[in-house]
Amino acid sequence: HLGRIEQVDGTVHAFLHVDTDGALEAARRVDEALAAGEPPASPLAGVPLALKDVFTTSDMPTTCGSKMLAGWIPPYDATVTRRLREAGIVILGKTNMDEFAMGSSTENSAYGPTRNPWDLDRIPGGSGGGSSASLAAFEAPLAIGTDTGGSIRQPGAVTGTVGVKPTYGGVSRYGLVAFSSSLDQGGPCARTVLDAALLHEVIGGHDPLDSTSIDAPVPPVVAAAREGASGDLTGVRVGVVREFSGEGYQPGVLAAFQRAVEQLGRLGAEVVEVSCPHFDYALPAYYLIAPSECSSNLARFDGMRYGLRSRENGHSAEEVMSLTREAGFGPEVKRRIMLGTYALSAGYYDAYYGQAQKVRTLIVRDFEAAFDRVDVLVAPTTPTTAFRIGERVDDPMAMYLADLCTIPANLAGNAALSVPCGLSEDDGLPVGLQVMAPAMEDHRMYRVAAAYQ
Ligand code: GLN
Repeated sequence: HLGRIEQVDGTVHAFLHVDTDGALEAARRVDEALAAGEPPASPLAGVPLALKDVFTTSDMPTTCGSKMLAGWIPPYDATVTRRLREAGIVILGKTNMDEFAMGSSTENSAYGPTRNPWDLDRIPGGSGGGSSASLAAFEAPLAIGTDTGGSIRQPGAVTGTVGVKPTYGGVSRYGLVAFSSSLDQGGPCARTVLDAALLHEVIGGHDPLDSTSIDAPVPPVVAAAREGASGDLTGVRVGVVREFSGEGYQPGVLAAFQRAVEQLGRLGAEVVEVSCPHFDYALPAYYLIAPSECSSNLARFDGMRYGLRSRENGHSAEEVMSLTREAGFGPEVKRRIMLGTYALSAGYYDAYYGQAQKVRTLIVRDFEAAFDRVDVLVAPTTPTTAFRIGERVDDPMAMYLADLCTIPANLAGNAALSVPCGLSEDDGLPVGLQVMAPAMEDHRMYRVAAAYQ
């Protein structure tokens, strides 16, 4: 894999940092333990992995795709990082991402875009485009992403790979640099559903260092993926979300999705249509909640505690802070901080953030009503296939639409994944099938996705 990175990453640019020595050393330790007759630390011991550059690593820089953190080496490992190491997984390096995970194309990285291995003129999705591109380019067999509004699933869909957003609280956020704390969730990326399940069981589970971590065993996702592999979905009820179609969806995406739904029926699933009327309001609610929480979380980048400090012409602490934030943050991050600061300001809180939280409750209820009738919900992961680099950079609204289908699961906190479902007839590019399950029922979607794949 290091050889493959050497060969193609100059073009793909999936990695911000490759740790050749550290990876070889970690691999050597696994070999030595096996040679000494010790049992492998996990089923994935010795398997290489690409880690999104938003998880802290004590031996590698962690930049979050931002100039603000250029060169910063954290003093500690994230819980996800620690669990990977303890499982004997070999971390190849850190992957490119939209700055602080804000974006849908990886074009907001301060270090240049990542290219989609399917077509180098197109985006690999975002914010975790680096992780998904590394899988699609065969630079790594496993990767880790984070999904606040779709940043694991949407890159998975447009690169023809598997991406899983576990139930909120299912994977520790300790050491995951915060964007929107009530939505952020780390999760596995892979080329097969079973590989994702194996990785999910390594990183998942309770962590006392994260107060929102769920204190319960990891859902049995590996067993479910193996069960699904038999290809029998008899007795499984699948709901097709009516709201995810129509205007804005490419015909090729809808046709691939339709074929996937028919295939689920052939595997024995009972397919029904369900309506989730409030999903239409998920995108606007998200774009109040996420920027609000981001404006608060990113206040910590003050030029004092982490990374960059611009003090030229700064005569006071306030000036140093303001110069640092001016120089360190890119345009999208600044846009979100301003939107969020406005939405949270006195007199507007109830009208914006409070209202969005109410919409969030309605979306939770839509899911509850749907899951009374069906075991899982399905939808396209994205309305379109990978768009061209540069096509949406000047149009934030068009960029935000990439997450139309993924955001409801973040707002409600339930589990969702994307599994490849063939190529679009429009342009020959990959399409993703999204499967959603209730909170802590992650295994349901793994079973269905494994049967499908
Ligand atoms: N594209 C969405 C955004 O820009 C989602 C990002 C994410 O999931 N981290 O906020």
